[in-house]
Amino acid sequence: MTSDHSTAPTRSQETTLQGNLYTPVSSVLELRHVSCAYVAGRPAVQEISFAAREGEILCLLGPSGCGKTTILRAVAGFEPVRSGQIFLSGQLVSSPDVMTPTENRRVGMVFQEYALFPHLRVQDNIAFGLRHLARSERSARVQEMLRLTGLEGFERRYPHELSGGQQQRVALSRALVQNPVVLLLDEPFSNLDPDMAGRMRQELHDLLRRTKTTTVLVTHDHDEAFAMADRIAVLNQGRLEQFDTPEMMYHMPATPFVADFVGQADFIPGTVFQGMVHTELGEFSNTIECEDGTAVVVMIRPDDIHLVPTKGATSRVLSRQFRGSENLYTVSLPSGQIVHSSQGSTSVYQAGTAVELRVLATHTVLFRREESTGLASQPVRPIAREH
Ligand code: ADP
Ligand code: MG
Repeated sequence: MTSDHSTAPTRSQETTLQGNLYTPVSSVLELRHVSCAYVAGRPAVQEISFAAREGEILCLLGPSGCGKTTILRAVAGFEPVRSGQIFLSGQLVSSPDVMTPTENRRVGMVFQEYALFPHLRVQDNIAFGLRHLARSERSARVQEMLRLTGLEGFERRYPHELSGGQQQRVALSRALVQNPVVLLLDEPFSNLDPDMAGRMRQELHDLLRRTKTTTVLVTHDHDEAFAMADRIAVLNQGRLEQFDTPEMMYHMPATPFVADFVGQADFIPGTVFQGMVHTELGEFSNTIECEDGTAVVVMIRPDDIHLVPTKGATSRVLSRQFRGSENLYTVSLPSGQIVHSSQGSTSVYQAGTAVELRVLATHTVLFRREESTGLASQPVRPIAREH
């Protein structure tokens, strides 16, 4: 077994990782140490801090019940904060003593179930929040939204005469037509079939970019977060574990929980000795400060492990899962440790094949051994780096 070089990314590598990042100018939404609780003494979210820059698309990502909707509701002004502060466009809107009403926050919300008015036509659903404007102005704004969201020709239909995707576009139009400071979207694709969801993601992404809309989107699906977000906040049991770009989240997860949640990951035990981590898969550079003898785990992704069928090799293919564009292999090392390897769709090896493992990790992600048990640890940075 060989391990190709595993060192912490340099600044220039990090720049490449963040190469696609949209770089807006100022902070439109900021949460500072926000905690909310439905029942006193039992916080639903705790000490949440993050900020969205103008035009940025943020995703709140985490399993069901981790507090995503609670955070959206707090930003929208539906839920008070027990401690901390929320700022919109630099104005304090929530704190234990301040609660600006929803209608004065200029946030747009799209809920999972869209909540359209069934008795109103598309055009009147969209115009609903514009009653204060003159008729001609209102009509011009609605026409503009219909054009932006591709709903021209549907303006006189009722919601029940529309597909799920079209209903979603109406809900989006109704929120966007008011030029919200921030658009809040709670699992907007969960009612759509996967094909439609994929198309709507792309459409929505283009629309948000064109309209330069600052957005917070909630999802439990890491693929969706990766596809949509400039930055992602990963939540676990009401706490923020990492706030970072999708690329950093995947390659440099801050905690074992994040590592596991954003994609398939294996955790290989190792021991630190003289600057290196010694594992069954070879040696890796040590990237955390610790003494010789410290027990650690190295996180490795399936795309970092290459398989080479070799007579006499001591690792064995256990199973293959065909996924169309790739084969995901489960492999057993001599110790019984299981790892996963993704290979091209045409690399087909039978169960029982003896294989050499080549580890192609370009960087090492290490956790102390005690942190990786249960995969719900205190946030720790695996590698020291600036932001
Ligand atoms: P998510 O949107 O990530 O699934 P939520 O924000 O809805 O999570 O919930 C966070 C936590 O708060 C969960 O433990 C949930 O059971 C609890 N919770 C949510 N809404 C209420 C409510 N209205 N009353 C009491 N507890 C609630
Ligand atoms: Mg929710």
